[in-house]
Amino acid sequence: MIIAPSQLQEKIKINEKTLKVGIYFHYPICQKKCPYCHFYSYQGNYEDHELWLAAILKEISLVAGQMSDLVEIDTVYFGGGTPSCLMPEEIDVLLSSLKRNFCCGLEEITLEFNPGDHSEKLPGFRQTGINRLSLGAQSFSEKVLKTLGRLHSVGDILKSVVQARKAGLTNINLDLMIGLPGEDDSAFDANTQGIKAAGPEHLAVYMLEELDEVPFKKVWEENPIAEDQMAETYEKYQTLLLEMGYEQYEISNYARAGYACQHNLKYWEYKPVIGFGPSAASHLGFVRWQNIPDLRLWSEAVLQGQMNLAEYLVLGPEAALKEKLMSGLRLKAGVDRAQIKKEYPGINFMFYEDKIHQLVEAGCLEVTASSIRIPPGRFLIANSILSELLF
Ligand code: SF4
Repeated sequence: MIIAPSQLQEKIKINEKTLKVGIYFHYPICQKKCPYCHFYSYQGNYEDHELWLAAILKEISLVAGQMSDLVEIDTVYFGGGTPSCLMPEEIDVLLSSLKRNFCCGLEEITLEFNPGDHSEKLPGFRQTGINRLSLGAQSFSEKVLKTLGRLHSVGDILKSVVQARKAGLTNINLDLMIGLPGEDDSAFDANTQGIKAAGPEHLAVYMLEELDEVPFKKVWEENPIAEDQMAETYEKYQTLLLEMGYEQYEISNYARAGYACQHNLKYWEYKPVIGFGPSAASHLGFVRWQNIPDLRLWSEAVLQGQMNLAEYLVLGPEAALKEKLMSGLRLKAGVDRAQIKKEYPGINFMFYEDKIHQLVEAGCLEVTASSIRIPPGRFLIANSILSELLF
């Protein structure tokens, strides 16, 4: 769907004077497509890289033209794809463009980084203002990395951490994947040693979602994993990381005190985020939109001063509240009851209150005077708790 950027502004109603907003950049190009990956990413070439850069700068100015007086940018996240393929000078140009076009008080700037790639660029990245590095480590077991079809080795992960520290990065996240076909105790031991050696401030520990549309589906079919085995693995990591001094603040995310990811918290707390780049999603006020996941179609529209969207929704208060509960209940802190009532004053809460009561009785929700949350011991069944509560 092609729209003029001004159509966004017509729908966005913001009560606060200036809204703190996060910016997400989606850079879709990778060195090689991983067999399990369902993100919009592909093995691209230099021409695609140049096209992305030209269009993203144009997209910043188009969107800023509609809402720069409404928002202040405080977090930036370069995700993908493999945004560490960008040069530090290119990141600098993007950040300068943000600063020219928006009011910015940048507190956290994250770059996703593939271990083994471009470590020599790390000092340059740090100089642009990047202050958080998210390393796609995935595993400290060579066997698991091979199963996943990754190009990097365990040595590459540790080398990248050392070089990132040398470059002055003091906030490092490691992404790990667990519960994979063929994973055994040796993978858990390798991850334990790897985490100790790398000493990250933050860990995102994901269970890979079993999807039909990715080539990795074949591996799952050949090595099915029992649900209780998945649960056992999840709990083992939960225990391990708590013992190591990390706090679990979200279903899959752990951090040392003061290092929770401020940008990702915006998604879970249902705060506004503007996404730039093909497939990037945005949410501002009650409006949600997503760019088309196609570099050519996205850039063609943007370079003509338009937006090509895969989704463009103006949510009613009921739908917005559901989205807020769906993301907020992933957090250990849960959602703030008073804030919900303030933000959604017209909603009849009886519908939720009956269900909440039943879920509390079943030990699946905890309600205090100020918050509602899923107890961390029930995080593994969060999806069924949420569907029971919301549908
Ligand atoms: S590097 Fe990351 S984004 Fe690229 S294909 Fe692999 S998993 Fe997907």
